[in-house]
Amino acid sequence: MEFLLVLTHVDDTGTALSKASLEAVTAGVELAAQLGAQLSIGCLGGAAALNAVASTGARLLAVSGEPFAQARYASDAAACEALCRAAEATIVLAPGTSRFTRVAAGVAHRLGGFIDTHITALTGAEAIEATRWFYRQRVEAVVTRDARPWFLLLDAGTHAAFAGAPAAAPVEQVAVELPALRTTVSGLRAPAQDAQTIRPDAKMLFVTGAGWTKKQPDGQIHADLAGDLILGFLRLTGASLGSSKSLVDQGGEGVPVLPFLTHMNQIGQTGATPRHAKGLSTCCHGEEPHVVGWRFIADRRAISLDPNCGWSRGKADVVYIADAFQVMAKVNALLEEKKA
Ligand SMILES: Cc1cc2nc3c(=O)[nH]c(=O)nc-3n(C[C@H](O)[C@H](O)[C@H](O)COP(=O)(O)OP(=O)(O)OC[C@H]3O[C@@H](n4cnc5c(N)ncnc54)[C@H](O)[C@@H]3O)c2cc1C
Repeated sequence: MEFLLVLTHVDDTGTALSKASLEAVTAGVELAAQLGAQLSIGCLGGAAALNAVASTGARLLAVSGEPFAQARYASDAAACEALCRAAEATIVLAPGTSRFTRVAAGVAHRLGGFIDTHITALTGAEAIEATRWFYRQRVEAVVTRDARPWFLLLDAGTHAAFAGAPAAAPVEQVAVELPALRTTVSGLRAPAQDAQTIRPDAKMLFVTGAGWTKKQPDGQIHADLAGDLILGFLRLTGASLGSSKSLVDQGGEGVPVLPFLTHMNQIGQTGATPRHAKGLSTCCHGEEPHVVGWRFIADRRAISLDPNCGWSRGKADVVYIADAFQVMAKVNALLEEKKA
């Protein structure tokens, strides 16, 4: 019989499970049912957060205390190891958050186990079949392993967040033997919310292309206006900002740039492949190396001046042949009106 442990951690509030953790819980509940496995859920950073998953009926384990309030390799790895040992885990599911991605391979090694990352689906009744993508999301592989414990890091957005009724649940506190801690976490420094344009949890991806900084029908470049329209839309909708490669590359070529864009925003073959329910592309041609990054965007729309662009040739669900400056100004005005 498999002993399945879902590793979770609290979010920035320190009291609730992170969304990615709740997604891993859903995956764990489904897989445990398929395998007839015993399910445990372990939490880093607070027992109370486990009330949200009490209705799973799983064995609940927690590691609490000041050293685990912040992410730090030594304390997090020791805590995960203690949780795995307490659950006698043969299968460990964890969300692929920065906190777990940093320590999971080390923990697997300490337990003599094996790890696979970027898992998108788990199936199989006899043996576990874990699915992941290779070669920039072009080749999908199904992985099975006999090695135990087997650690599987799940990509965010591949499962629904667990949403059972919260209840006070009996939680077993797991003691952790901490090694000497060389790293002191003095605090968190993060960009202001409106400066952080990459938002994996957003419903919508808003993509900007090189057209925003090209000469427009009046013969002029309107980079400042472009910046205002784009940031206005992000502020009003909370959408995540993506870009074509051409636009983010322009900084190095002396062309007017949008200062809030970096290569981290790039979507495509040599960029990111995010998961969002909807995507809106603006001033972007929709070439294949860009569109391959839209693989996991469910509803794709584009605004382009070019009726022959890649988007128009069957890559988007809806294409608006229109001037994005005009369309986005109108959209922002309507959103402002709605908000007021
Ligand atoms: C090996 C390789 C890897 C690559 N990887 C990536 C990648 O990861 N991501 C990526 O994005 N690209 C990638 N590329 C580059 C890709 O092929 C394209 O060159 C790039 O995506 C084009 O960017 P763009 O559509 O923004 O610019 P352009 O091709 O210049 O298109 C600009 C568009 O804006 C439109 N436009 C202009 N003004 C307006 C307006 N006012 N309103 C509406 N539309 C307007 C124009 O009609 C045009 O269609 C890669 C290329 C190679 C060879």
